[in-house]
Amino acid sequence: MKHYFTLLVLTPTICFSCMAQNQSSTMAPGDSSQTNRISFKFSFGPGKVAPGYTQVLPATAYTNSLGYGFDSDSMVTAVDRGSEDPLFASFCTSDKLFFFSVAVPEGNYKVTVTLGDSQGQSMTTVKAEARRLMLERIHTDFGKFEKRSFMVNVRTPMMPPGNAIKLNTREWNAQTGEAVTRTWDNKLTLQFGDERPCVCAVEIEKVDDAVTVFLVGDSTVTDQPREPYGTWGQLLSRWFKPPVAIANHAESGETLKADVLIAATGVKPNIEFLKNSGIQTQWGILTDDHLQTNIPGVYAAGDVCETFDIARNTRFVNAIWPMAVEQGRFAGLNMAGRKAEYPGSFRMNSIGNFIGFPAMSMGVTHPDECSYVEEECHFQEIKTRSENTYKKLILKNGCIVGAIFVGQTQKCGIMTELLRKQVDVSDFVGVLVSKNLNFMDLVPLLRRNGDKFPEPEFKELMDTGL
Ligand SMILES: Cc1cc2nc3c(=O)[nH]c(=O)nc-3n(C[C@H](O)[C@H](O)[C@H](O)COP(=O)(O)OP(=O)(O)OC[C@H]3O[C@@H](n4cnc5c(N)ncnc54)[C@H](O)[C@@H]3O)c2cc1C
Repeated sequence: MKHYFTLLVLTPTICFSCMAQNQSSTMAPGDSSQTNRISFKFSFGPGKVAPGYTQVLPATAYTNSLGYGFDSDSMVTAVDRGSEDPLFASFCTSDKLFFFSVAVPEGNYKVTVTLGDSQGQSMTTVKAEARRLMLERIHTDFGKFEKRSFMVNVRTPMMPPGNAIKLNTREWNAQTGEAVTRTWDNKLTLQFGDERPCVCAVEIEKVDDAVTVFLVGDSTVTDQPREPYGTWGQLLSRWFKPPVAIANHAESGETLKADVLIAATGVKPNIEFLKNSGIQTQWGILTDDHLQTNIPGVYAAGDVCETFDIARNTRFVNAIWPMAVEQGRFAGLNMAGRKAEYPGSFRMNSIGNFIGFPAMSMGVTHPDECSYVEEECHFQEIKTRSENTYKKLILKNGCIVGAIFVGQTQKCGIMTELLRKQVDVSDFVGVLVSKNLNFMDLVPLLRRNGDKFPEPEFKELMDTGL
């Protein structure tokens, strides 16, 4: 059940945080008005402090009035290496996860961390807010330092004017009037961990023109606040650099009611290894009518290549087994010296049981997919529906370029032949979608296009004299 709250139950801190969103001054840290600032520089440990930086010691615990500090009872120790360079002079570390928070207004922040130890190795993983992965296992050698930047999206429930996002009990504690998860509090929180985290400095700067990627989804995407749970949504930030910020708005327990769920995946030809080979690629390897690449003597077939698509009238990757086999055959013939022109492929799918019905589709399922059309093209969509069947034909200039059959898929093989051979079926549409499709009814059509049906089985049918 959703918990509804209004501005009245929000803590003053959150209200203040929202006000600060509109302010842009940069003030020295350490005073009570620090939440006005939109850029911060912190130097960790007891060593020398660079000008403009605020020193953070293990005892610097986060309080609302201070507006920054170690959070969630972090147990931190500091090491001073006495180095002359104040940015590398000292660091904070812990053998447990430790958290550092800064009160900030809602927005996107570029965070830059300096990691390392002048007298040892370090290994640090950084997460932000509710365990969003930012830096993964950053290793520094003895005496080396790494400066890494990433973007953190910070949000609060406040929605001006005077409204607030309705949070549930997993997100908001109505009794205390505080956020339960770091996703909705008024702070930017960094979590440091791994084998030997060594944090020398943290810089935080609000970025108003960041590129924000919004994620929506369910428990498989949301920022899961507790171990051992994890989602791809909270790992995604690991792969993006400034100025891209990931704003994960996915939420556990959200449902969308539907009768059918179809999960599908695409095809990505593995063509990386052809980089710098001179072989032309786009989505896949580009081939000509004989399945030869742009390099003479080099041929391609199957899921890895783009071949001529009859329905689309352009090159396309039609990644199904019969096409791969057929293309392999044609490529082989051409490689062996026999000039065999590949007639082209088209997409085909057949499912024996689609929510209780047999279903098949071929070619394009909508005229828009024929993106490469000549002028004066005429498309027709013919749909018939009965209690247990659905049939759709897409014709381009009278020829089938796509079809969907649900509930009755017998004799659909003839449709694939008509598509493959691009036969004008304008006069036979009624026969093709009829409930009692009989091959014999198509004999006149075959006879009229006899040159396109030289195969023995068709000849035999036409020779019956019927
Ligand atoms: C889950 C799934 C279900 C499918 N279901 C159907 C179906 O029901 N009906 C249907 O018709 N088709 C189906 N397909 C598609 C069908 O499997 C493919 O169209 C067919 O296997 C393509 O054959 P191929 O030889 O072109 O490619 P693949 O079978 O993918 O063979 C390519 C081979 O090359 C190897 N390889 C890749 N890169 C390199 C490299 N750099 N160096 C050396 N070797 C490399 C790969 O390991 C692989 O062994 C399905 C595919 C998948 C993944």
